[in-house]
Amino acid sequence: PSDSGLQSGPLTSPPPRIATGTPMIAIDNVSKWYGDFQVLTNCTTQVAKGEVVVVCGPSGSGKSTLIKCVNALEPIQKGQITVNDTKVVDKATDLPKLRSRVGMVFQHFELFPHLSITENLTVAQRKVLKRPAEEAKKKGMDLLARVGLSAHADKYPGQLSGGQQQRVAIARALAMNPVVMLFDEPTSALDPEMVGEVLDVMVELAKEGMTMMVVTHEMGFARKVADRVIFMDRGEIVEDARKEDFFGQPRSERAQQFLSKIL
Ligand code: ADP
Ligand code: MG
Repeated sequence: PSDSGLQSGPLTSPPPRIATGTPMIAIDNVSKWYGDFQVLTNCTTQVAKGEVVVVCGPSGSGKSTLIKCVNALEPIQKGQITVNDTKVVDKATDLPKLRSRVGMVFQHFELFPHLSITENLTVAQRKVLKRPAEEAKKKGMDLLARVGLSAHADKYPGQLSGGQQQRVAIARALAMNPVVMLFDEPTSALDPEMVGEVLDVMVELAKEGMTMMVVTHEMGFARKVADRVIFMDRGEIVEDARKEDFFGQPRSERAQQFLSKIL
């Protein structure tokens, strides 16, 4: 059927799944406050090129805040974050340019409701990357085909299901040629029967070697494609482990408790 998951093969040949040296994302001793409230405390981790890191932890532990900081959507007060050699805390950094290279997919699809699917897929390519209309459209349509939604190009977001909208949102982020993709609970607002089609797209992306940081409670996804799992609690990275070690035997009691509740 034209509507389920990825249709065509990868656009690039899959690189090895083993992470190489250079971090694509380096989070270095980051602390952040919302007013008087310290939301992140001395967070340090790296994501290597091609690595898939799942971030989990209880509600309110700072997961969304941490990945928003990577995209400079939230400022940090202490520490540094480097994305592909660009420092987030640096007056010389062109933040809109940085953001244009960091794909972000949120829980709520946030497509532009008044624009068609085609327009949703091309507007930032044209306005931010200054791509000619024809080229932007070709890129958008290729990506729409990859997420299995070619037949819906002329519809509006409200005419698509939640799962379909989220697949468009992923295609829209990919249209910017991101160096990394950040996901913040991309399936948690979806009806259960639509979760799989969105996860399938993400699994394919991971297999193609995209560098990904994924906040999710979908532990099936984590087991399948994550290289590492980060567990956060009360603004701290409590555990940062290879997937096998995390699921085999989380070191901290807090992670053990969390896993026992969601598995
Ligand atoms: P998570 O994604 O793990 O649920 P968040 O990063 O959304 O956690 O939130 C972490 C904490 O920061 C929570 O206590 C939340 O209430 C608080 N918080 C989040 N955003 C803001 C904000 N803009 N202003 C003040 N507090 C916030
Ligand atoms: Mg959150």
